[in-house]
Amino acid sequence: MDYDIAIIGLGPAGSTLARLLSSSFKVIALDTKHKVGNEGFHKPCGGLLADDAQKAFARQNINLPADILTDPQIFSVRTYDLQTKLVRNYQRSYVSFDRHKFDLWLKSLIPSNVTVLHNTLCKEVRRIIDGYQITYLDENKNEQNTTAQYVVGADGANSLVRRMRYPHHTIRQYVAIQQWFTDQHKKPFYSCIFDNESTNCYAWSISKDGYFILGGAFPKKEAAQNFEHLKQKLIKQGFIFGEPFKTEKCLVIYPNRFRDFYTGSENIFLIGEAAGFISASSLEGISYALDSAEILSKILNNGAPNPNKRYYQKTIQLRLKLYSKIIKAKILTTPLCRKLLMKSKVQHIKRIE
Ligand SMILES: Cc1cc2nc3c(=O)[nH]c(=O)nc-3n(C[C@H](O)[C@H](O)[C@H](O)COP(=O)(O)OP(=O)(O)OC[C@H]3O[C@@H](n4cnc5c(N)ncnc54)[C@H](O)[C@@H]3O)c2cc1C
Repeated sequence: MDYDIAIIGLGPAGSTLARLLSSSFKVIALDTKHKVGNEGFHKPCGGLLADDAQKAFARQNINLPADILTDPQIFSVRTYDLQTKLVRNYQRSYVSFDRHKFDLWLKSLIPSNVTVLHNTLCKEVRRIIDGYQITYLDENKNEQNTTAQYVVGADGANSLVRRMRYPHHTIRQYVAIQQWFTDQHKKPFYSCIFDNESTNCYAWSISKDGYFILGGAFPKKEAAQNFEHLKQKLIKQGFIFGEPFKTEKCLVIYPNRFRDFYTGSENIFLIGEAAGFISASSLEGISYALDSAEILSKILNNGAPNPNKRYYQKTIQLRLKLYSKIIKAKILTTPLCRKLLMKSKVQHIKRIE
């Protein structure tokens, strides 16, 4: 075998695993993003670091550099129910950051003993005796092969590793669309928007560095039309858009069954969104990417026998927590439940105008 471990994808999950693995392993990591700069793959993302992700960084003894933060930092989210026209204001302690800079910074923390191939696309993971052969296109678009005993699928929502190795473990995928505008609102704000006519998931808006970002997750069929439909409704609510500066699209996992969370088998491990680890109620996924990578690193570093079984067992709490988010999502996206919750004004903060 060329390597002990091959990591496919260096988003928050893969980069964290590459950082935490023992230097006694020979590790290769493949990622479509470039090493530096604005070229290459950008993950569309709200760029909000939730409490649980902050906790993971606290545990991993990592401080966030100031140059990846965005302006301003906002402490509340305005929640809109477009059916009932109810609006509530809830306190949040997110840290707002530039997602692309964040991903490149996490990659930069990977120790030099790990072989990192940037601007590289994994095309196939094939079973061979004692391990796997990984076929990839290198930065010059030449096809190459390497072999490893363990493979880690950290390749996100549309994971090639999951699709190729576990075609029966499919998971519901939605299309996430984000549009960027020059922010023309009087005051920057975050919002969370429910509109069952446009989507049975949810939408959001975020003010960042002078931009106003409107995003939403939609069933694949007619996603673009539903996004436009939602935009028109929001204009009536006082949102200001103007000409979009850029539009981003990607697949996002929207889990709705416990079995959607799949951790892998036969020396292949899935971490982060590839494993289905994303909150169905908020689409927050960075904390689960960091946590699952940390759990797997401990198991591999300990050299425990049957690491797939151990990883499955050690992620039970994480999977139960994610299941509770599925239930929460079902409640929040059911118009009557949402109306009752919002009418109750529990945790609502009245703003001084
Ligand atoms: C629109 C949107 C907004 C979101 N906002 C937030 C938010 O504000 N806060 C939050 O916590 N979460 C948010 N999420 C969720 C969060 O982005 C993901 O859960 C998180 O990025 C998962 O990390 P990951 O490392 O598992 O996967 P990813 O971040 O998707 O990383 C996968 C990596 O694998 C690489 N890759 C993929 N395929 C291949 C291949 N074949 N070969 C080589 N490399 C490959 C990609 O280049 C990428 O770098 C949002 C998601 C979406 C879609």
